[in-house]
Amino acid sequence: MQQSLRDLDRAYENFFKKRAGYPRFKSKHNHTQSYRTNNNGNSIRIVDKKIKLPKVGFVKINQSRTFEGRILNATVSHTASGKYFISLCVEMDKEKLLHPNAGGKIGIDVGLKEFYSDSNGNTIANPRVLKKLSKKLAREQRKLSRKMPKSKNRKKARIRVAKVYEHIANIRKDFLHKLSTQLVRENQTIAVEHLNVNGMIKDHRLAKSISDVSWSEFFRQLEYKAELYGGELLKVDTFYPSSQICSSCGYKNTKTKDLGVREWTCPKCGVHHNRDINAAKNILYKSLEDKQLF
Ligand SMILES: [Zn+2]
Repeated sequence: MQQSLRDLDRAYENFFKKRAGYPRFKSKHNHTQSYRTNNNGNSIRIVDKKIKLPKVGFVKINQSRTFEGRILNATVSHTASGKYFISLCVEMDKEKLLHPNAGGKIGIDVGLKEFYSDSNGNTIANPRVLKKLSKKLAREQRKLSRKMPKSKNRKKARIRVAKVYEHIANIRKDFLHKLSTQLVRENQTIAVEHLNVNGMIKDHRLAKSISDVSWSEFFRQLEYKAELYGGELLKVDTFYPSSQICSSCGYKNTKTKDLGVREWTCPKCGVHHNRDINAAKNILYKSLEDKQLF
């Protein structure tokens, strides 16, 4: 209650200072519902395998990871499939969070067909979670649509749909987190292209696969994780023609503008290129060059 009032206060302040639109009511339908509560004194604490929450008391938990430090607040959420989660905001010693990285340098070219290609010559495939599970999702949604409004069976069917959605989201999150952690562990410098993902999603043909592979979330993870591993995420300007330049000699081959050209041989130096790996190399070189200039 207190936190909601504080949030409302801030929402109005943001609105009057023209930083945001007029506050809207929080929806109570069909998605994750949540509330946040502050730790006053010791009102939120973990004892054995239970957590104490204000007004709620002790509840049994499955703690996903341990931590040292003061709990600032807790967000309790309830997913559409009926699971409860508690996220704790914890104040920690930054030193304890920092780890060394292995000192590598890597350029990354994200793609639609593959998740990305890197400057070391590796290509990482998409998990294609939506494709695999979308049939199941469609089936459950069809069943849901045939149920009587407000019936018990409709409620059950809605939970089944929500479960498939959550499964898809969990596979995607797991994929992104594993990849981003591995990259920041191995590299001091990670170079990516600065993407206008919002602009791209407006193109509906690309929308489904782009939101499926979720690059912006991937870059966000790389950015905060690189900081924890003492590395850096560099972003190269979108207008840099990374797929047209020969990464060996610098020759600009405009014939590769066509997205269909997957492989090409440089007419100047004769090196044979894989389109995406060559682009990833250029993204790395360009980012290092830009860094020297500034
Ligand atoms: Zn060349």
